[in-house]
Amino acid sequence: MNHSCLTCQPGADRVIDYENNAVNLPEHFRGPPTSGNGGVATGLYACLGAHFLETNVAQLQVKLHQPVPLSTDLEFHEEQVDNETVSVTVGISGETVLSGWASSKTKEPVMSEDTALELQRHVALSEEQKNRFDSYEEVFGPSKDHFAECFVCGPESRLGLRLRLRQITDQIFWQTWNPGRRWEDQGVLASLPAIAALDCTSALGFYVNGFLGEHESCLLGTYDASVTSLPLFDSEEGFRVISKTRERVGRKIYTDVGLFGATGEVHVLGKATWIVVSPEVAKG
Ligand SMILES: [Zn+2]
Ligand SMILES: [Zn+2]
Repeated sequence: MNHSCLTCQPGADRVIDYENNAVNLPEHFRGPPTSGNGGVATGLYACLGAHFLETNVAQLQVKLHQPVPLSTDLEFHEEQVDNETVSVTVGISGETVLSGWASSKTKEPVMSEDTALELQRHVALSEEQKNRFDSYEEVFGPSKDHFAECFVCGPESRLGLRLRLRQITDQIFWQTWNPGRRWEDQGVLASLPAIAALDCTSALGFYVNGFLGEHESCLLGTYDASVTSLPLFDSEEGFRVISKTRERVGRKIYTDVGLFGATGEVHVLGKATWIVVSPEVAKG
């Protein structure tokens, strides 16, 4: 399979070096100031999976064991679990940084059908939701400055996605996204940015909805994603990123988030598990 996305080719956005079994996140793929973005780290598994399985990835699951060092060669080791699944560990000096798997088959749904439908129903906004979107004022947490250059949500990330969801109902957060041709891979949105786009975007409502207190912050712990249909670059309408927080249990917060086409096609569904930490720990 000709897997040719930007993050797998030589250049400024390269993340994976298949010849040397190395993963290396350039500085602009940061989350906190000194470590990698969890969504990018998860998105890597779509690329690695497609490479080793020689077909498209339908589902993946990734666990972040420790902050991902930037501009550092990390080794990856893959192991074929069965015909459809490859497990991959990414580490440095014998320590695991990421573990997880990618599969060409959907193993089990990452969220209930009801939740997926609820997110999908909000692809187009009602007048009231549009007003709420337009007048939304962000509630910032203590980590605001640390994530200013986060690849996914950072307003100051020059090479980043700068995706900030806004509240449109009491529970649902929403944003349109026109990724631009930089992220196109043979007519579709490349997997890595498609999956990364559903990372910290799912956490932007934690303060406004009271899932995090004013002295708390959080880090991505695990991330499950299923790729339901390839996001085609076939309209000027762009995509919709829609999220809803499921619940907080102790120090874990679960969120459901999806990437949809402008007319409702389901492209990627994600479930993120966030670990509540102090702002000092979240800084990396
Ligand atoms: Zn790739
Ligand atoms: Zn972010």
